[in-house]
Amino acid sequence: MTATQFICPNQDRILISQCLSTCPHCIRCMAKPTLETLAKSVADRKLGRKYSVTELISGTREQYLKKTTDYAISPQDHVFAMHGSAVHSICERSSSGNVITELRLANDIYTGQIDSYGDVLGNGRKTLLDYKVTSSYKAMLALGYYREDVPTGDVYKSGLKKGQPKMKKVWRTDGVKKLYEWAVQVNAYRLLLEEHNFPVDDMYIQVYVRDYSLRMASERNITQPMYLLHINRISDQWLYRYFSAKKALLDAALKSNTVPGFCSSRESWNGRKCAEYCDVYHECRQVYETGLPDTSSKVA
Ligand code: SF4
Ligand code: SF4
Repeated sequence: MTATQFICPNQDRILISQCLSTCPHCIRCMAKPTLETLAKSVADRKLGRKYSVTELISGTREQYLKKTTDYAISPQDHVFAMHGSAVHSICERSSSGNVITELRLANDIYTGQIDSYGDVLGNGRKTLLDYKVTSSYKAMLALGYYREDVPTGDVYKSGLKKGQPKMKKVWRTDGVKKLYEWAVQVNAYRLLLEEHNFPVDDMYIQVYVRDYSLRMASERNITQPMYLLHINRISDQWLYRYFSAKKALLDAALKSNTVPGFCSSRESWNGRKCAEYCDVYHECRQVYETGLPDTSSKVA
């Protein structure tokens, strides 16, 4: 099944087809072409086709619910996802002859779309490049930035801390890069390329920071709109094991019509994804409360 309803700003639910035909409110909450693009982007969740890399990386429960229930999405919450699609199509249009873009490949386990492959960085190396549009917070974590207390050289002259060194916060850029999902995704694409005889020397993610101009971003040491992140190789054996296991879990759940357990803390971003970013949060809670998905929500 698929996303069949939009959630209006006043929280009414409306069938997507009805919204696109006529908005019952006095003015649309966003332009019709934007809503049409959004409707297309969430429509492709049919059963029977191969799973994509991103579907297998996300929680099995989330994917099961997306494939077996009709759910509703808020257009406002999906605007940033459309920024990502827009970046992809701009880069695809402007790519040159020795670079392959938007190449869709598949193996026995999954399918994946390669954003850019070839000598994309002009260093003569075959590079796989993936584009990401993200927040300054996620960029800070992915870049391994963190703040540390260092002595200023002064000491407190009076008060409770008298005699103790004064400290100041400084940024470090050598922290652990928190980009597990991105690294697994790009390596899965790398494996697809190599399986189809496209050798890969390097992997990079080109990160666009959507809020880089805000003060909050500079407080996170994010000062550029775009960063290039080198991605390390993950072993092929690990990738095969990981994706085969995720595929088997989803296959088994769909075949037996059994709702999988809650997503792991990594899959649900320690629970942060659930209420704020998961499209099937409502359905997930319904299953928990009643044992069965309830898709009979109010439809305008
Ligand atoms: S989601 Fe559709 S129906 Fe609802 S306010 Fe926006 S345009 Fe109107
Ligand atoms: S609400 Fe949380 S646990 Fe439920 S499917 Fe979504 S991410 Fe997984």
